[in-house]
Amino acid sequence: MRKLNFDQAGLTRREFLVSSAVSAVPQRGISLRDSPAMPADAPWYTRIRRVGQINFNERDPLTMDVESWMDYWASLKADAVLLNGGGIVAFYPTELPYHHRSQFLGTRDLFGEAVAAAVKRSIRVVARMDCNFAYEEAFKAHPEWFERDRDGSPRKHAEAPWLYATCMFSPYFTEQMPAIFREINHRYAVSGFFTNGWPSTGPLGVCHCEICRTIFREKLGGEPPEETDATSAHYRQYYEIYMGRIAEVWKLWDLIAKEKQPDAVYVGNLGGGIHTVKSLRRFADFASWFNADHQGRAGDTPIWDCAQQGRVARAVMNGKTVTNVTGAYSNSRPVWRHVSKSAAETTLWLAQTTASGMVPWYHWLGGTPEDNRWRETGRLFYRWIASNEPHFRNRQPLADLAVVYPQSTISFYRSSGPRAWRGGDRTQSADYLQGLYYALLEGRFLFDFVHQEDLPTAALSKYRALLAPNAAYLRDSECEAIRRYVAAGGSLWATFETSRYNEWGDAREDLALGDVFGASLTGDTIGPAGNSYMRIEAPHPVTRHFEGTSLLPGSENRVSLRRLHPSRPELSVVPAYPAYPPEMVYPRTSRTEEPAAILSEKGGSRVAYFPGDVDRTFWRSGNTDLGLLIRDSIAWVMGEGGRTVEVEGDGVVEIFLWQTESGFALHLLNYTNPNMTRGLIRRHYPIGPLSVSLDFPGAQSISDVQALRNPMRLPIRREGGRVHFVVPKVGDCEVVALT
Ligand SMILES: [Zn+2]
Repeated sequence: MRKLNFDQAGLTRREFLVSSAVSAVPQRGISLRDSPAMPADAPWYTRIRRVGQINFNERDPLTMDVESWMDYWASLKADAVLLNGGGIVAFYPTELPYHHRSQFLGTRDLFGEAVAAAVKRSIRVVARMDCNFAYEEAFKAHPEWFERDRDGSPRKHAEAPWLYATCMFSPYFTEQMPAIFREINHRYAVSGFFTNGWPSTGPLGVCHCEICRTIFREKLGGEPPEETDATSAHYRQYYEIYMGRIAEVWKLWDLIAKEKQPDAVYVGNLGGGIHTVKSLRRFADFASWFNADHQGRAGDTPIWDCAQQGRVARAVMNGKTVTNVTGAYSNSRPVWRHVSKSAAETTLWLAQTTASGMVPWYHWLGGTPEDNRWRETGRLFYRWIASNEPHFRNRQPLADLAVVYPQSTISFYRSSGPRAWRGGDRTQSADYLQGLYYALLEGRFLFDFVHQEDLPTAALSKYRALLAPNAAYLRDSECEAIRRYVAAGGSLWATFETSRYNEWGDAREDLALGDVFGASLTGDTIGPAGNSYMRIEAPHPVTRHFEGTSLLPGSENRVSLRRLHPSRPELSVVPAYPAYPPEMVYPRTSRTEEPAAILSEKGGSRVAYFPGDVDRTFWRSGNTDLGLLIRDSIAWVMGEGGRTVEVEGDGVVEIFLWQTESGFALHLLNYTNPNMTRGLIRRHYPIGPLSVSLDFPGAQSISDVQALRNPMRLPIRREGGRVHFVVPKVGDCEVVALT
């Protein structure tokens, strides 16, 4: 393996862009050359590893004991706490007009007392604010601050209808909130500000106040649609204006935060996991701290939802601070704010937070809890991190594969043709990525996410392959970056409509990457058609595990195409035929020339293109053949040679490998659980022994291997250039420190 001559960890994004532009030739491997530590004068929030939040309610001034609360956070060795300052409710004696003091505040200064109690214990305070609602008093004095429906009526909070929704385009965000920030900053020893609920990564809001109507009239030439609809020219303009306003407000609030202390910071509320509408790439351009409000899961959300949040945030923040809120309360559906979530679920969520490179932020609501079971859950996990802190100080992740985070497709996807929105339900537009993700977990691959907008500048050459799970909406420049990567010897795995549309969903005449895939469109997409199949036409490594069958399940949807280089396909399409009644279940056309996969090799580059949505069909069906086909096709594009990390043994495991300040850390998350895809986890089912082997630049210098969760030294063995050790047992998770 040759080493690259750049190092992502110590560079600013701009420097990184410049340096990566010169390394277009694939040089597989990962540079670990003297990755610099965080400079000593780095802002305080770049060093934090544990954050706590007690979310005050209006009544808390009557009963809250701030000293015992700060004793609790100190017992967790929290670096920072979030404490309610103001916005909807002021928890201090504010002098600002229309800033509602808690009706229970009396003579107390709850915020001030809590800040003092935290600072006394050397815990930083971030003032938790809410910019989204205000009281009627403010509405009467400043009606221009508030959102309106189309009929002009104000929008009130669904559960607290005495609160009025504020408009982010109004002076409430540029005058009233700044005044509140300044009052708090002037009076109290705060190190930053955080706003609950704003701006979020979800869909854009549409307001009909006078200010917004003026924007629609003068800048859009009409109203934007209420729902996400990138086919609308008004929506596209509105998206730009909306993201621009968020940037303007975020930067303003960050400047205000810094007025007293230059290393103070404003942090907004993001999150959403892989389901986003607003561009994560844009946020990363102005955010120095990404807080993911991704507190837990509900319904049939898979357990790895938190690790995905870490991956997608890491992709855009590139080493800058990312925190993730874990709700200690039961934030399922329904949500119970005042009872604890199961300790096992909470702990695995916290473990995913740290494994994926985020900093945990533990959250409870209400200053006088009747349920105190959550306290020990957080304390045990935080103290464990604290006692092993050098191994949680990450420099950069190591990975064999890059997965394109197809933001535009997830945000806007709509298939061509007369069928209904395919991406109207946002969950569906992420199903392609979700299916690939599940297969990557089953195959125990080591992978990073790369945001599509970073493709032109990302150091793709360090990966052994790039995976594009129906990245249907791509810019020309992004397609060109993929083409360049493959031309320089990189390998590619892609599915379905990848590159068919531009970033807004305008269809191209042909797949922009058709030349790379070896295919050209001949018509519209076909499907959904449940009962189609794939026929194994010729032996190939991709189908080597399918002995005893010549037929495999087919994808629900596929693009119609012809091969640019006609030859007999290794896998062909058997078109759908009836599944009912049984008398009718036989193929009408049992053999076609239509490829179900196009597998090509040129020099060291391998390309696997599936015209069908095998990833999404895998996710929806859970079919094991499709999972195996995805795994084996990824293994094939990766090429020969061992992986950076190989883990053998039973169980569903997600792995992360980090270069840390003290060496390397391998994180193993144990998802083996009947509640893996439907919460909540009741208990952990231990797995092990797991046989681990490693090979990467720097691995040969490893002399000490310590398991940190189930503490023990693990004997190492060197064989065939790889470092081997056995992890005897993994309960919730294991972190193996390699030094
Ligand atoms: Zn408005």
